[in-house]
Amino acid sequence: MIEHRYDLHCHSTASDGALAAADVVQRAHEHGVTVLALTDHDTTTGLAAAHAQADVLGMQLIDGVELSTTWQKQCFHVIGLGINPQHPALAQTLRDAQIIRYERAKKIAEKLEKKRIFGAFEAVSAAAGADGMITRTHFANFLFAQGIVHSQQEAFDHYLAKGKAAYISTSASAWTALEQAIQLIHSAGGIAVLAHPLRYSLKAKQLHRLLTAFKDAGGQGIEVVTGRCTAEEIKIASNYAKQFGLLASVGSDFHSPSNQWVELGRLAPLPEGVESVFSRLL
Ligand code: AMP
Ligand code: MN
Ligand code: MN
Ligand code: MN
Repeated sequence: MIEHRYDLHCHSTASDGALAAADVVQRAHEHGVTVLALTDHDTTTGLAAAHAQADVLGMQLIDGVELSTTWQKQCFHVIGLGINPQHPALAQTLRDAQIIRYERAKKIAEKLEKKRIFGAFEAVSAAAGADGMITRTHFANFLFAQGIVHSQQEAFDHYLAKGKAAYISTSASAWTALEQAIQLIHSAGGIAVLAHPLRYSLKAKQLHRLLTAFKDAGGQGIEVVTGRCTAEEIKIASNYAKQFGLLASVGSDFHSPSNQWVELGRLAPLPEGVESVFSRLL
């Protein structure tokens, strides 16, 4: 029996990754991954090229997406694994998200102009490409390239994070509601997994309420092992998986080789006692 190595969360240039989809697959292969899910933010346009490369390498590529959703006015990321990218309602939601992102980008650029930083919209829309998804990462890269900040992190800390000078809230209503996103993933044949549950800065009680709502809406899994998590965080997330009867997923959330902390396939094993999402995918 083949010992599989899974990585079920990563990004390409189809959203805010640094590598083209085929190069993400190639790099995953080189890092020993045998089952990869490409999960770009609100887009599936990288999947065709990813499949072509996975076929060359004899790797298994799961069709994935990371949907931006809202629940109680906050943004949460829900991963769809094994979705049909052609599903009409899902495809429509992704087209809507592209417009939301385009409009938000114009507003972010206007806020930067008030700080006398010009040319951001032109730069990020060119970087994202004609049918690309404009993300805050694109703005962070622009601010870094301009020498306005010394790192991507500083771009978020000073300009792009919630409450900072160029932050535009999309939380009020723009993104798909959490419950609807789960439904969409189901109707497109996929499994809905709550991404990086410990990265939303929620207090235990709020996280409990989120997981209750997620489970009630038909959500099936949560990420237990993510790119830069501690042993303690794995323990906490696996306890939530058990408590809420959710499948455990594993994904690096790889974006770029320049982030030395997060690499494809470099993931801790799932702890004992959780049921993994793997058997549902193969
Ligand atoms: P968006 O979906 O356009 O709001 O952008 C969110 C993306 O920005 C996330 O998926 C991360 O890749 C990135 N991001 C968010 N917060 C940070 C941060 N503090 N440092 C670096 N990247 C971040
Ligand atoms: Mn991202
Ligand atoms: Mn995410
Ligand atoms: Mn991600």
